[in-house]
Amino acid sequence: MLGKKSIPTSNLYLIYYPRNFSILESDTCYRNWASMDSNRYYRNQFDDYASSGNLNIVVNDGSMIHDAFKSVLTVETKKLMEILEENERMWLSRDDYSVYTGSAGIAYTFYHYGKSFNDAAYIKKATGLLERCVTKFKSRHEITFLTGVVGPLALTAVILHSQRKEEEAKQLILKLKSLATYVIEKRSDVPDELLYGRAGYLSGLLYINANISPPPIEPDIIKQVVTTIINSGRMYASANHCQSPLMYSWHETEYLGAAHGLAGILYLLLQARQYLTQVQMDSYVKPSLYFLQRLQFPSGNFPSSMESHSDKLIHWCHGAPGMSALFCLAHKVFEDNTFLDTAVRCAEVIWQRGLLTKGYGICHGVSGNAYAFLHLFQHTQDIKYLYRACRFAEWCFHYGTHQCRAPDRPFSMFEGLAGVIYFLVDMQQPHMAKFPSYDI
Ligand SMILES: [Zn+2]
Repeated sequence: MLGKKSIPTSNLYLIYYPRNFSILESDTCYRNWASMDSNRYYRNQFDDYASSGNLNIVVNDGSMIHDAFKSVLTVETKKLMEILEENERMWLSRDDYSVYTGSAGIAYTFYHYGKSFNDAAYIKKATGLLERCVTKFKSRHEITFLTGVVGPLALTAVILHSQRKEEEAKQLILKLKSLATYVIEKRSDVPDELLYGRAGYLSGLLYINANISPPPIEPDIIKQVVTTIINSGRMYASANHCQSPLMYSWHETEYLGAAHGLAGILYLLLQARQYLTQVQMDSYVKPSLYFLQRLQFPSGNFPSSMESHSDKLIHWCHGAPGMSALFCLAHKVFEDNTFLDTAVRCAEVIWQRGLLTKGYGICHGVSGNAYAFLHLFQHTQDIKYLYRACRFAEWCFHYGTHQCRAPDRPFSMFEGLAGVIYFLVDMQQPHMAKFPSYDI
């Protein structure tokens, strides 16, 4: 990382890249990196976990990160936070108020950072940003946590409630609940996927209930949303003669991954399982999981859609990284060991091919991929996965050094720096880590 004080903040890319590196065309870029195995990822040259190795990264018998590594983690996280703050003018000037790529996502990182490091100034900053975001969404069609008003509403409500501003929080929750009519309306042409659809609305409802006590969203509303999602998937699957009892299409493609596809929808349904009937679980969710499981490539990766046979993308949004959380939870819920095997195979291919040339982001980058290890660690307590998450975090310390293209929204939560900081903050307490808006 270059010394930040010597860098003009008006030149974003100089902050991110070493002096001999610039935004190059991909062919040139790839030739500069001898360790690269393909044009999508760097060969993972980290030693894998060995219990005999004293690497000062994890404590073998303590299920925790070694103090030496944790110190570095804290220092590096704070350095990246300084860069994010120094560039406020750049990310604030964009007319984007979403969690995914806008200022609500940066606020989410401030909130997470403030809570973790017990720094009220960041929580205050987050609240101010989020309140502004809430007022900027005008369309009732933007109904998800990640790309719509639901994220800013839910986050602000949770923060205000924690500050004992119950009445203000209540007004925001009422606003969020009022969107349900549109979401569950059969003819409203709302998609079902996570980024723009019903699963993304469900994510907001579950987030509120998980973080405010007593849970303020009535079970009836959540039941109506999950039933609408299930019925929509049943109708599509039946009309299109799908082998899976639930299938969905977004922009006329049957996506399978976390962001737009079946995996993301099933994961939210599984997290909402207390609101599903036994029939919905046994006749629709479970067999859809088996269907999806059979699509895993021999490598451990998954295709991005039913139409694709390409084993290329190792992203949270498309491919194995978004699947590991789903199959860990499926294992917990249904106690079928084949689900755990599926999740473990996801983690293996991510370890091999998850250091992406595309960059460091949460959605399609190294920090998002690292969450697969955290899910496996939380689910199995196997410290190998914590070690692997630490190695991917170490890769992220050198933010921008190994990356062939700058993200379109370089400071954002899901494509850029804010998401990487969020992940590094999560690494402070890996038992509690949660992929933003995906793990409730
Ligand atoms: Zn992505």
